[in-house]
Amino acid sequence: MSRMTETIVSERAREMQKQVMQKFRSKISPSLAKIVKQSQGVAKQFVPSPYEALEYGTEKPFEEGKNNKGIYGLERIYEDRAVLTPYFECSAYCRYCFKKTRTLAGEAKRMSDENIADAINYISNDDRIKTVLITGGDPFLDVTLLHKVLQQIKEIDHVRNIRVGTRNILFAPENITDETAEMLSEFNEINYENPRLSRNLSIGLSLNHPDELTPEVIRAAQKIISRGITIRGQIVLMKDINDNTKTMRELIELFLCNGIVPYYLFHCMAVVGAKHFRTSVQKGIDIIRELSAFSGSIAPHYVYVTPIGKHRVGTNSQLDYVEIDGQRYIRSTTPYKAADFLHFSDNTMLPPLHEINENGYIVSHYLDGDDNPMEALI
Ligand code: SF4
Repeated sequence: MSRMTETIVSERAREMQKQVMQKFRSKISPSLAKIVKQSQGVAKQFVPSPYEALEYGTEKPFEEGKNNKGIYGLERIYEDRAVLTPYFECSAYCRYCFKKTRTLAGEAKRMSDENIADAINYISNDDRIKTVLITGGDPFLDVTLLHKVLQQIKEIDHVRNIRVGTRNILFAPENITDETAEMLSEFNEINYENPRLSRNLSIGLSLNHPDELTPEVIRAAQKIISRGITIRGQIVLMKDINDNTKTMRELIELFLCNGIVPYYLFHCMAVVGAKHFRTSVQKGIDIIRELSAFSGSIAPHYVYVTPIGKHRVGTNSQLDYVEIDGQRYIRSTTPYKAADFLHFSDNTMLPPLHEINENGYIVSHYLDGDDNPMEALI
């Protein structure tokens, strides 16, 4: 590369970086900053990259916190589950966040008392809803608000599972106090006389790289686990971060020996600015197939997500590729009935790239990633 070309490309990278900084905020918590300094695999997830300026993906590949039934912060796409998003703010911003046009763009909106009351009322009135997922942003950022929401969910007899999704155990392990862990444990109740009336609260903790499991993170997680609460580990598959069997195996083995149950491996969603993170879906299949040679408990459920829900991918899945507008998509007949989706999600139409087959099931088209190195900018 000539010196002249180097200068031009560097200027392009600088200009792209400027665009990224104007469009998306960045935030790294003090605890996370220490890990970022020592680990490339962690740094890449949080330090803004000029590649985020590439035109790519959609603004909202999967929208949480929207006004389902006219109630801000409530979402429902499945018969048996509802999602609540009390607060759209996080202690650090993941560059691959599928809600980045909200979190990284600074929405930081809270559910009002009225929103919460309306959402609770909606859930109370439908006894098919057995599970409530509380997500964000990060619910642990406002423990008082989380407690208030949990207390109201506890009053609903048919809700038997409460799941809280977080990364704050990584971002701010010092904020996971004994009091917070004790508070969570109040919502985990076993009814020995009638097990059908037991209620379980569990945590979904997103961790993507072995370097994230620091002594501080493990101590914070143990405050919760030692009080009988299950923590499930969720991983996002990302290029040059964890897209190889060695790193993934090390991460999952760290989960297992520290009491974290391996749960989901998510394919990275096609959100704006995430092109450089996205591998092919096949790459994840190759990894879970190689992991399946080890202990049965090591392999997480591999899924990709479209606006109609999760799509499970097995170790022997044969992907059906179609080309749309010059891009490679994965076509799949889902287990979701269109009539159910339209009913529960409050939509009048299926999202773009989704259609109904002759049996009433939704057929989805999901934009694949690729495993090629990114074009050089610098
Ligand atoms: S913690 Fe979750 S919601 Fe917050 S920025 Fe990261 S991925 Fe997005």
